[in-house]
Amino acid sequence: MKINVTVWNEGRHEKLSKKIAAVYPEGIHGAIGGALAKDRGFNVRTATLDDPDQGLPVDVLNDTDVLIWWGHMAHGDVDDALVEKIAGRVRGGMGIIVLHSGHYSKIFKTLTGTNCSLRWRDDDSCRVWVVNPAHPIAQGIDGYIDLKNEEMYGEPFGIPNPDEVVFISWFGGGEVFRAGCCFNVERGKMFYFQPGHEAYPTFYNEKVQLVLANACRWAAPVGEIQSTASCEHRKIPTGEVK
Ligand code: ZN
Repeated sequence: MKINVTVWNEGRHEKLSKKIAAVYPEGIHGAIGGALAKDRGFNVRTATLDDPDQGLPVDVLNDTDVLIWWGHMAHGDVDDALVEKIAGRVRGGMGIIVLHSGHYSKIFKTLTGTNCSLRWRDDDSCRVWVVNPAHPIAQGIDGYIDLKNEEMYGEPFGIPNPDEVVFISWFGGGEVFRAGCCFNVERGKMFYFQPGHEAYPTFYNEKVQLVLANACRWAAPVGEIQSTASCEHRKIPTGEVK
């Protein structure tokens, strides 16, 4: 069974800046989607904020096994009702991968329940260290990924303690950051990955692409995705053992 992956990108930087459009002529979604589409295990679709229904009409969301999310300058434009729908589907079993500046997106804040703040600085070198080599998301990555240019993201990162940390980044300025974090969200799985600033060609890096493919497989639903209602708590009558 193929995994249905939807790559969602805000898509505004590419529209507003020639410099960013030159780095990602097909958009960040195009670069990620193009890389994943080479893998026969995935059916890949892309969507952006300015598409009808903000790129995620009900039929698309309901046909998505793993949602990839890149956003930055327009987090506030994403409809609250859509965020609730996505959150409900993740709780029911859909996988979600939140990238880079998506740490401040409504969906990531909703699913973590924290403010997700961090420290940052422009342009630095970044070495993404594998700290959990047995983890499925780290397979094929030998030790670390070197990125010549990335935005520095530093601790403290305002998230709950992740269920697993797969990568820790180290920057030229000496900072470190929990760069690859796994969370169980009821029946669903969520992975946060730090690299991916819009001004740098990070998503063309083959090792980054491998991490994303591994993450899609890891986050794919186990069994059927439940409706939100089935995840609600139920009162069991006293004396009845279930
Ligand atoms: Zn950035």
